[in-house]
Amino acid sequence: METQKLKGQSALVTGADSGIGKGVAIALAQAGAKVLINYNSNQESAEEVVAEIKEKGGDAHCFQADVSSEHDVQAMFAKHLELFGSIDILVNNAGLQKDAKFIDMTLVDWNKVIDVNLTGQFLCSREAAKAFLARGVVEGVSRSAGKIICMSSVHEVIPWAGHVNYAASKGGINMFMKSIAQELAPHKIRVVGIGPGAIQTPINKEAWETPEALDKLLELIPYKRIGKPEDIGKLVAWVASDEADYITGTTIFSDGGMTLYPGFEDNG
Ligand code: NAD
Repeated sequence: METQKLKGQSALVTGADSGIGKGVAIALAQAGAKVLINYNSNQESAEEVVAEIKEKGGDAHCFQADVSSEHDVQAMFAKHLELFGSIDILVNNAGLQKDAKFIDMTLVDWNKVIDVNLTGQFLCSREAAKAFLARGVVEGVSRSAGKIICMSSVHEVIPWAGHVNYAASKGGINMFMKSIAQELAPHKIRVVGIGPGAIQTPINKEAWETPEALDKLLELIPYKRIGKPEDIGKLVAWVASDEADYITGTTIFSDGGMTLYPGFEDNG
């Protein structure tokens, strides 16, 4: 039986009713953490994730909150503390795309992506850090006072024409993650970025739903397979555990080699 690396801990995962967030929530629960499943609009899917975790013997609840709303985020953290007494792990996963050619991109779509993908991580991390600082390290639970895991993307380093709001939000997450990691490390709080490549979820359905689209996508992936939410879930569960206690302020890519500039494979 797999050891429960996160036993006695609780985690809040944003956007956990779908895709990567769902995979992360399930992996954290399998590692022994109690999980709060945040969703914005799809209550039914969130309840299905809760049911799946409970069926496997875990403990989970769900809570509606828009991560770009300060009021909602504060209410969500209050609920987490009411349910579980404290918090050990925040996974800033919620994110979206509003794609357009640069000159056609509206201010509304620019702001929406920055508000959810970047400001959402700021609002949630600030609440988590306050709770971690108020409690400190609890011996026998974790060597760290708390862990903040920021879902970034290969697009924190790979430019992405037609998606400048998204790429800017992920580039922003990189410096946000590093800066708060620097500020919080003396307080025994770790902050780590995760950079997924192409993971099979609803966000990028058009890139894998037909065999032709998938073949084209695989040209960008040296390892020649699309990633699955479980790939990221297992990584996050490990990063959140004491096995990764010396890791802070860096992004770990899980991308089948997408950041290896595959266009140069045959000498460019
Ligand atoms: P997804 O669309 O399946 O999931 C996104 C989640 O974010 C959904 O649950 C959605 O409801 C939630 N969300 C959106 N706006 C929200 C808001 N205002 N408040 C709360 N929740 C909100 O897509 P996914 O692929 O699972 O994406 C999850 C994260 O992973 C995102 O940050 C995305 O940028 C990142 N990512 C995905 C891939 C990929 O290939 N799928 C690659 C790199 C990074």
